[in-house]
Amino acid sequence: MIPATHYNGHAVAILGLGRSGLSAARALKAGGATPVCWDDNENSLSAAEEEGFLIANLHEGRVWEEHDFKVLILSPGIPHLYPQVNPIVRLAWKYGVPVDNDVGLFLAAIDELPEEEVGDEPEFVDMPAIVCITGSNGKSTVTALVHHILSKAGRNVQMGGNIGRGVLDLDPPRRDEIYVLELSSYQTELASTLTCDIGAFLNFSPDHYDRHGGRGGYFAAKRRLFEFAVSAVIGIDEDEGFFVHNSLLDRDVEYEDDGRVTAITANPDFCAGKSRVVVGLDHLAAELETGQSERLDLADLANLRGAHNRQNCATAFAICRKLEVPVNDILSGLKTFTGLPHRMEQVGQLGKISFVNDSKATNVESAAKALGAYENIYWIAGGQGKEGGLDGLKDYLPNVKKAYLIGETASQFAGLLGDAPHEMAGTLERAIALAMQDADADEQASVILLAPACASFDQFPSFEHRGDAFRAQVLALLNKDK
Ligand code: ADP
Repeated sequence: MIPATHYNGHAVAILGLGRSGLSAARALKAGGATPVCWDDNENSLSAAEEEGFLIANLHEGRVWEEHDFKVLILSPGIPHLYPQVNPIVRLAWKYGVPVDNDVGLFLAAIDELPEEEVGDEPEFVDMPAIVCITGSNGKSTVTALVHHILSKAGRNVQMGGNIGRGVLDLDPPRRDEIYVLELSSYQTELASTLTCDIGAFLNFSPDHYDRHGGRGGYFAAKRRLFEFAVSAVIGIDEDEGFFVHNSLLDRDVEYEDDGRVTAITANPDFCAGKSRVVVGLDHLAAELETGQSERLDLADLANLRGAHNRQNCATAFAICRKLEVPVNDILSGLKTFTGLPHRMEQVGQLGKISFVNDSKATNVESAAKALGAYENIYWIAGGQGKEGGLDGLKDYLPNVKKAYLIGETASQFAGLLGDAPHEMAGTLERAIALAMQDADADEQASVILLAPACASFDQFPSFEHRGDAFRAQVLALLNKDK
């Protein structure tokens, strides 16, 4: 745990006592503050109380008058502004208490570490390097990939944020520590500071509009990271990324145009700025701030298939080169990366049928990437709908042999598919059984792919539960056949 010392000696309010709220409470207490906690859920309240934290109903104005709160720490799961203002956040506004989150606390705590006290080292050591990764899709993959490459290259590195451990649960820095953080738009929107050495913006597509009041709000939340990042890696193949890249070229001028902004693109003609990584079909070609040209073969990366993963590799490459990891170490990290569960996870193989769990494809853009990565697909799709419609999937339908539609949006998908073969399966279980029958009768090699393009909440508590259910049923099928 990293003690949050900024509010030493003061009362702080904490709303939301899930994982990140509780670890914020612990870190603040360890840093000398007095956390006063609240959650509308009774079980979460009791857990905090059992740990000895002070509980008070933050809905009551009297509590704000009694305590001279210096900050309200909000959990990322709690909407603060849209679709409606949270009443406790409104009280914080009323009493002039700033609202922050665990990421803001963490970055402030790192910033305040006296250099001689970093880790156990008695002598001067460098401050840790902070890498923050955001974007609509691929954040977890790139965060895990960068972490893997760096640890394999022998660097001291910890990963957290929206993946694995919450930021305040990470360990204090060792010598030359690198923190690689995945940050969602919920986190970047509210953090009081996002100061980091390298900020990465992967891509941009519709998501979470309800929470951010539309596309502009969602973009503004992500873009905030680049008000603070010293150096940046920006995917420029969507207009939003292109715009951010352009706005940062100014900063290059400030730093005497030494290429602190690296563009990631599939467009070989892209020429703006001094530093870029161009992604080809099976390789990447980089021109870096050092003036060096480098090339990397991406042909044999078993667990990083598809155009989107080439974008992920290029982003990880640019980040790692900024951290001075040798090219060969990066390549060896890319080759040994085992992938993450629920992201195009190869669950098993039965004769000529492979089973792929891409339950994390919760929006159209990510599902389209999965459909683009395979041929002869028996596709399981549907769930709870998201903004933006399904049109982004149209170009990939020729890769689909037949679709099995589940959940609330099944009929919307049927509309998209028109005359293309599809069946209303209703549940995931039935979809797998139907797809299995059809794929079995097919003489060609095929893929049964769960890439729902939808959230899971209509039928499952989370995308993880949905992916676990897919995996469990497939493994049961495979074992039955043995
Ligand atoms: P995030 O953390 O941003 O949600 P993940 O790495 O968990 O991203 O991947 C989410 C989904 O997006 C998965 O279905 C995955 O296959 C897909 N995906 C991964 N990288 C990209 C990318 N660069 N562009 C589009 N889709 C991607």
